[in-house]
Amino acid sequence: MSYVIPPPPVTTLEVEGASARFPVHRIYCIGRNYADHAREMGHDPDREPPFFFMKPADSIVTDGNDFPYPEKTEDVHHEMELVVALGSGGRNIPVKNALDCIFGYAVGLDMTRRDLQSEAKKLGRPWDTGKAFDHSAPCSRIRPVAKTGHPNTGALWLKVNGKTAQSSDISALIWTIPEQIAFLSSLFSLAPGDLIYTGTPAGVGPVNVGDVLHGGVDNVGEIKIKIV
Ligand code: MN
Repeated sequence: MSYVIPPPPVTTLEVEGASARFPVHRIYCIGRNYADHAREMGHDPDREPPFFFMKPADSIVTDGNDFPYPEKTEDVHHEMELVVALGSGGRNIPVKNALDCIFGYAVGLDMTRRDLQSEAKKLGRPWDTGKAFDHSAPCSRIRPVAKTGHPNTGALWLKVNGKTAQSSDISALIWTIPEQIAFLSSLFSLAPGDLIYTGTPAGVGPVNVGDVLHGGVDNVGEIKIKIV
């Protein structure tokens, strides 16, 4: 195969305990999946059907790297999240089989240009400029299921410059991980390499140039990035 232009590089993540890397296919994100965050954004946390948005695979920033403060915004927010990495996919995956699709778990930040997202919400426009910009998906290395099992409890936390900004537990997810996979697979063909950002708890807030974000989920992993 030859190409008329250079093919885009594959975005990859480190895998704990392996030299081979995890190639990223698509990045799905779920909205309002912790009741306290739904409330802080002015919504009723009732179990309405889940909704999703996407980020491009090449918006990943790997652990230890810098997040460049983006253009066209004055209100970039952090959203600390548990991330699921799929090793297999499919369509219409039953909840009871969904865990079998998971290769491993990571932690990530769903970085958000909140001002652009709020404007899009108000005007009934897509969220892409608020959510799917360059560098909007910092993600840690992946811990394989062989090491973690399938965590359904564990503290989720984010410190900004050493001070706790978000603090919750992944047991507070409104839609569980198998439910998210089953629901997503009714809308999209899931594939090996897909990541799912599973939602953020309360405490989202603005970041500034110079800030260091350090977050994690106990027994899954940690990430540290600097805003530049
Ligand atoms: Mn989010």
